[in-house]
Amino acid sequence: MNKCLLNIIFFGIISSSFSVLNAEDISISIKPDQIIQGDPIMITINEVDDISKIKSLRLGNSELKPFLYNGIVYAMYGVDINKKPGSYIITTKLSNNSVITKEINIESRKRIEAPLDIPKKLGGNTASSQKKLIDTLAIENLSLLNLRTGTKSFWREAFRYPVSNPVVTDDYGYIRQTGSYTIAHKGTDFRAEEGTKVYSMNQGVVRVAKTYRNYGKTIVVDHGLGVMTFYMHLSKINVAVGNLVKLGQVIGLSGKTGYAESPHLHLTVRINDVSVDPVKFMELFK
Ligand SMILES: [Zn+2]
Repeated sequence: MNKCLLNIIFFGIISSSFSVLNAEDISISIKPDQIIQGDPIMITINEVDDISKIKSLRLGNSELKPFLYNGIVYAMYGVDINKKPGSYIITTKLSNNSVITKEINIESRKRIEAPLDIPKKLGGNTASSQKKLIDTLAIENLSLLNLRTGTKSFWREAFRYPVSNPVVTDDYGYIRQTGSYTIAHKGTDFRAEEGTKVYSMNQGVVRVAKTYRNYGKTIVVDHGLGVMTFYMHLSKINVAVGNLVKLGQVIGLSGKTGYAESPHLHLTVRINDVSVDPVKFMELFK
């Protein structure tokens, strides 16, 4: 073999291992396959292994923040339960200025309505306790928006359920009616006897650890880039604001504090302040 051929082989190998951004090879894929209002979306930029190669990433008018997980570039988006159904475009601009797009379709969620009972400890089913519930919920919800979030994702492994034997007792998305008011159940309830261990669903930083009138003893863990998990109606809180918690760490015990008739764990998962279906969120990691 002459020297010239050797050089071709050598430089051929070098250039192939560095020519990463070939627009024809790059594509966007999404999970889940069928998206309905209230779903989380996991967006994958295939064949890109470095977030510095993504100049911008958008879904409709929303700017998304890419992160690296298992050596692949991903981003997450939460579809609001009231987002207008229809077609939306995901667009990413790469560092070599090529633009990749993917069209997605968001379908409407079936509305399931159920009556809502107010526990005796919060005044029972009277007009005044209904109004008090709605008014105090509005204040609590406001205080749980715009929480501080990390500028990087804090997690490196797949999310896990917050209880060891997750049995859903109340799904995400039910519309509950109390008097003339309606409240959407923007989380999932899991069966949990009083005192069941509650695990952090992933690594993160505690942003809230306090007691609310309606949500009871509540912990919020920030997993970075706007992804947060909320654990409510606890009987015990084991962590404090600012604590770094690990995947699977026991952060508290389940209970029925606040607006809860019987012990259970209420879990909310938010992506940039949009509450998504926690069970669908877990399916992203299968
Ligand atoms: Zn609930």
